[in-house]
Amino acid sequence: MLTKLRVMTTTAEPAVFSLELSDDQRAVRDWVHGFAERVVRPAAAEWDEREETPWPVIQEAARIGLYGFEALAQFWTDPTGLSLALASEELFWGDAGIGMSIMGSSLPVAAIYSAGTPEQLGEWVPQCYGTADEPAVGAFCVSEPNAGSDVSSLRTRARYDPAKDEWVLTGQKAWATNGGIAAVHVVVASVEPELGARGQAAFVIPPGTRGLEMGSKLKKHGLRASHTADVFLDDCRVPGTCLLGGKDKLDERIARAREGARGNGQAAMRTFELSRPTVGAQALGIARAAYEYALDYAGQREQFGRPIIENQAIAFALADMKLEIDAARLLIWRASWMGRQGKPFDAAEGSMSKLKAGEVAVWVTERAMQILGGNGYTREYPVERMHRDAKIYTIFEGTSEIQRLVIARAISGMQIR
Ligand SMILES: Cc1cc2nc3c(=O)[nH]c(=O)nc-3n(C[C@H](O)[C@H](O)[C@H](O)COP(=O)(O)OP(=O)(O)OC[C@H]3O[C@@H](n4cnc5c(N)ncnc54)[C@H](O)[C@@H]3O)c2cc1C
Repeated sequence: MLTKLRVMTTTAEPAVFSLELSDDQRAVRDWVHGFAERVVRPAAAEWDEREETPWPVIQEAARIGLYGFEALAQFWTDPTGLSLALASEELFWGDAGIGMSIMGSSLPVAAIYSAGTPEQLGEWVPQCYGTADEPAVGAFCVSEPNAGSDVSSLRTRARYDPAKDEWVLTGQKAWATNGGIAAVHVVVASVEPELGARGQAAFVIPPGTRGLEMGSKLKKHGLRASHTADVFLDDCRVPGTCLLGGKDKLDERIARAREGARGNGQAAMRTFELSRPTVGAQALGIARAAYEYALDYAGQREQFGRPIIENQAIAFALADMKLEIDAARLLIWRASWMGRQGKPFDAAEGSMSKLKAGEVAVWVTERAMQILGGNGYTREYPVERMHRDAKIYTIFEGTSEIQRLVIARAISGMQIR
């Protein structure tokens, strides 16, 4: 039976939905793309082979204003939330290893921004970046050898010394981006281990602090232009003012936790949901770069007297690659927009976007290698590097399994294990 359509008469909500980028957003996208194309791409293979932090490229990014808090703040303040995703996609389209060397400092900066006081923000954020002539990097150290996905079980301890108003940190951090070479390390440590994640706090370790040592620099499968290392903290003493947010706030939080009051788990989850679309956008940039390369190659490479793209097997693979990339981008834009509008992430939409983009990046870069055949497998062509770079996106910032866990819990309301 046909039902009569209800005529929508309400005018309370204006119709503002649009996928059209504004002039400002196009300007951000084109600016970062220009830098990625002109400076990042040509340097990508060299720094991947060298497995070193590409300081000259960071310096160039700092010179044009792309590396520093001002750029990040400009992206953050876009009322639609899309600018950081746009910039990340373009930068990582240029190269992911170099992209991570440039964007890696935004991790400690985001931690200082979300947990720190205005004074801490003013003091430490500029030091994470250094100056255009002498850029520095920052590191955010949470993971430990025995605490990766399960960050509630951190063993690094922070003990307060009231006589000196100092914190003393001891422990080992693992896989830290920029670990040991950073000017500023933000370290998450346990103050009250029996309270799990609710007994943890974040500390700034100022440049040159004694007791902080870099472990061995890790040799990686991909993202090789980005420095990754373990960090050892051996009775590492920092002033009381290095506790992000201050001691009164921490004492209050711990007292509440001891009384059995419910923790602000929702707020912690929201923080992850807010940052995950940006990580997804990085993966998206890699996927798009590989897709574009393969599309171009397939139009030029001839076998059996015709371009290989004239075979459905190749053309359909490229169609599917484009489809998956666009689907991932829509999820990223949705989650970025929701975050900026303060919408609740009822279905863990931020996790969805990172999960999808990470898996798309791995799949698309593998397809691109297949389309390039033997050439795709060599370091003469960039897609094997892109494939190596893509893989980390199903592992860090929450593995794919952890993203599925978060989504499953959000949609079911159950404690899925
Ligand atoms: C290049 C690189 C850069 C990094 N940068 C940083 C950084 O800057 N700062 C930082 O703090 N950390 C960083 N990390 C660490 C990264 O976040 C962790 O490696 C990641 O969280 C996974 O932890 P793990 O390696 O201990 O794996 P594990 O937690 O041991 O997981 C191993 C496997 O078990 C699965 N698994 C675990 N628990 C569950 C579960 N409950 N249900 C289903 N499956 C599960 C995982 O999905 C995974 O497949 C970096 C890592 C790398 C490789």
